[in-house]
Formats: sequence, structure tokens, C-alpha cells
Amino acid sequence: MNAALPSTSSATRKTRPQVNLTVLSKELLSPHMVRIVAGGEGFADYENNEHVDRYVKIVFPQPGVDYQLPLDLWAIRETMPREQWPHTRTYTVRWVNMEVKELAIDFVVHGDEGLAGPWAAAAQPGDDLIFTGPGGAYSPAPDADWHLFAGDDAAIPAIAACVESLSEEARGMVFLEVDSEADILPIAGPPGVELHWLFRRGVPAGSSELLLESLRGIEWLPGQVDVFAHGERGYMKGLREIFFSQRGLERSQVSLSGYWAQGRVEEVFQAEKKLPVGKI
Ligand SMILES: Cc1cc2nc3c(=O)[nH]c(=O)nc-3n(C[C@H](O)[C@H](O)[C@H](O)COP(=O)(O)OP(=O)(O)OC[C@H]3O[C@@H](n4cnc5c(N)ncnc54)[C@H](O)[C@@H]3O)c2cc1C
Repeated sequence: MNAALPSTSSATRKTRPQVNLTVLSKELLSPHMVRIVAGGEGFADYENNEHVDRYVKIVFPQPGVDYQLPLDLWAIRETMPREQWPHTRTYTVRWVNMEVKELAIDFVVHGDEGLAGPWAAAAQPGDDLIFTGPGGAYSPAPDADWHLFAGDDAAIPAIAACVESLSEEARGMVFLEVDSEADILPIAGPPGVELHWLFRRGVPAGSSELLLESLRGIEWLPGQVDVFAHGERGYMKGLREIFFSQRGLERSQVSLSGYWAQGRVEEVFQAEKKLPVGKI
């Protein structure tokens, strides 16, 4: 993994409280997606928000660093040098059930590199799942004439949550790029929303042209569109051209950001996002 300092952010203990959950179950949803359901006593600290793309920052303590237990991320950030802070990784809350006090997070299994992907692949009931949040930014616009969703594997949880939140009358199109048919996941959207699965067939995620080609080629539905497009950074740069230059959409109609970047760990990628070169 690339050398990277743990991320800083403007979040605080108040805006993004720490929540300490316990893994209750793990399910392999497809060859490249693992679902972790977590809950336990710590769920009492989880404050849900109104965003449909709500996400959390999962905390990964650094091996070899002596942290005071129970782990308190915000106290660590106040008292320890940044090199020793735990790493964090950003994940969508796929669903939350406030009554039974459980939530699910779907992790892309993308190989041996990284922290979160390998952690989820190896997780067992009883393991700790510590995060801060949730944050969030998007809910489908209720007054849009139609909805357009586009993304790769990492955006499936957010896009699935959004599509499942639409009204029965909603219209739209969803483009999801995955490796093969085995990676198709059930998404319970309204009948007027078409699901299109695109298959890379061995081409690494982030290296395919499928998403861009499909979005360039589609016939748009009439009326005002509401767009939610997230995934690998290079894909998002291409989609930005399509939405803003080709289609002339307003910024307010489009939620678009890189969720990850090929060859970069999250801290490096997030730090680059703040530089002119990394801006989408
Ligand atoms: C708001 C938001 C919500 C997100 N929601 C989800 C979610 O619900 N589920 C999810 O799986 N991801 C989600 N992501 C993406 C996730 O945060 C990144 O993929 C993250 O880099 C994974 O951390 P890691 O420790 O596994 O890999 P890192 O240590 O960050 O990276 C290690 C290596 O793995 C590569 N890599 C990272 N992610 C992928 C990938 N998806 N496919 C192929 N290679 C990859 C990197 O390029 C790097 O080379 C979300 C990101 C954001 C910003």
C-alpha cells in the first residue's frame, strides 16, 4: 500500500460521533461484494440522518501503536501525533434498521491491497466495527422528471439505496459496471427505472470504457434529470464531460464524485482531491 498519513478532516466528535459496533454476520453477496451486518450495545450512539447516501468513516487502528482502550478516535486526534492516528475508510450504510438496531455495509472485495476490503473479506462475527458518522449529502430530488444513476462496484450500495428509496411512479436509468453476471445484485427499484449492468469481463475496475460509452450513447428521457454518479476517479472525470459539456446540465442537478482512484490508497486520493489536479 502507498505510504500515506491518516486523513484529517473538519469533522468533530459532535458532528461525526464515534460508534463502536460488533459484527453480527457476514455474507458473500457476489464474488466481489461482502455484506457485514453490525449492531450491539454501541448502536445506541448511532445518530441516523436524512441523507439516502449516508456514509461512515471506518476506523482502522495502526498495528504497533499503543492506543488507550477503549479506542477513542477524537481523543487520539487531540493527543497523539498524526503519524499514529488510526486510518479511516469511507463506506455507505447500505441499510439501517433503527428498530432492531442493526445496519449493513457492503464492501467491494478488490484483492489483498488496502485495509477495508481485506478486513471485510476476513471479518468474523464478534469483531469490532468502529466508525465515525454518518455523514451524507444526497437524496433523490423528488421533483425531478427522471433519475440517472451511474457507477462502478463501490457505488452499488449508495445507488441501490437511492433507487430503492424512489417512489413507485419514478422513472429513470441505472448503469452499473461490474466484472461479470455473477456480480449482479438485487435492487428493488420501481418499475419505471431500468437497470443496466455492464460487464468488464476481466478488465480491472477503473480501466474500462464501458460506463462512459454507455452514458455517451443513451437516449435521454424528456424533462429535468437528477443525476447521481460515483465511482473510480477517472470514470468520473469522463462523466463530468458528458453531463456538463455535452448535456449542459446545471451543477445542482448532478451529484458526482470520485469514490476511489486506481493505484491510490484512500488518504492519498482524498488529499489529491483537495489539489487543483485532483478536482473533478
Ligand atoms: C462517500 C463514499 C462512499 C463509499 N461507499 C463504499 C461502499 O459502500 N462500498 C465500497 O466497497 N466502497 C465504497 N467507497 C469506496 C471506498 O472508500 C474505497 O474503495 C476505499 O479506497 C477502500 O479502502 P481499502 O482500504 O479497501 O483500499 P485502499 O487502501 O484505499 O486502497 C488500496 C488499493 O486498492 C485499490 N482499490 C480501492 N478501492 C477499490 C475498488 N473498489 N475496486 C478496485 N480497487 C480498489 C486502490 O486503488 C489501491 O490501489 C466509498 C467511498 C466514498 C467516498
